[in-house]
Amino acid sequence: MRNDLPKLLQAISFAAQKHAAQKRKGADEQPYVNHVLEVANLLANVGKIEDYDVLIAAVLHDTIEDTETTVGEITKLFGETVGEYVLEVTDDKSLPKDERKQLQIEHAPHLSNGAKYIKLGDKISNVRDVTENPPADWSIERRLEYIDWGERVINGLRGVNENLENYFDELIKTAREAIEKPQIQNINQSDRHN
Ligand code: NDP
Ligand code: ZN
Repeated sequence: MRNDLPKLLQAISFAAQKHAAQKRKGADEQPYVNHVLEVANLLANVGKIEDYDVLIAAVLHDTIEDTETTVGEITKLFGETVGEYVLEVTDDKSLPKDERKQLQIEHAPHLSNGAKYIKLGDKISNVRDVTENPPADWSIERRLEYIDWGERVINGLRGVNENLENYFDELIKTAREAIEKPQIQNINQSDRHN
């Protein structure tokens, strides 16, 4: 679908309402909706994606997984293609977390291109959060493990959007450096004290 700005704005308003009570896990507790808007923004402005179904699904990508929203509700308001994209990127929360994370790796190659773009935007946004604004109780190891896992998911879907893939690759490089750097600084500091 092209040029459906009113539907995109409706999706933004819908997502803002659905996620209204939720915050990101970072110390600054940003509104949850900031994340889904960042994903759609990355797709449009880094990925140069103009397909409104994909952009609308990016805005809605966490509604089924993290709020009471049903796929029927999304399909009725935004159409079947959008509903399918959102379902494709929705984890089955009845499964244990380890299994869900393994399934993301296994499913990545089989996603539609639209869902692959959304995964790329989602992982970029989350790696950025893990780097700049991580959950307070995450160790350096856990943050690095998250990036390793995100890279494995993305490695399974490459070849769909060079801009987003290059952006992801640059980001994980700087993210790992930034997360590892405090350790090096700490070692240097303890060296100095000894
Ligand atoms: P979670 O799945 O619990 O949390 C990450 C998810 O939370 C993101 O994918 C994102 O999903 C959402 N999120 C919201 N706010 C933030 C934020 N500020 N920063 C990052 N993510 C945010 O984490 P994992 O279980 O994946 O843990 C990461 C790694 O650490 C794993 O590889 C795991 O093996 C390892 N580990 C896990 C432990 C555990 O108890 N689970 C303990 C030790 C290590 P969305 O896009 O849906 O919002
Ligand atoms: Zn997300």
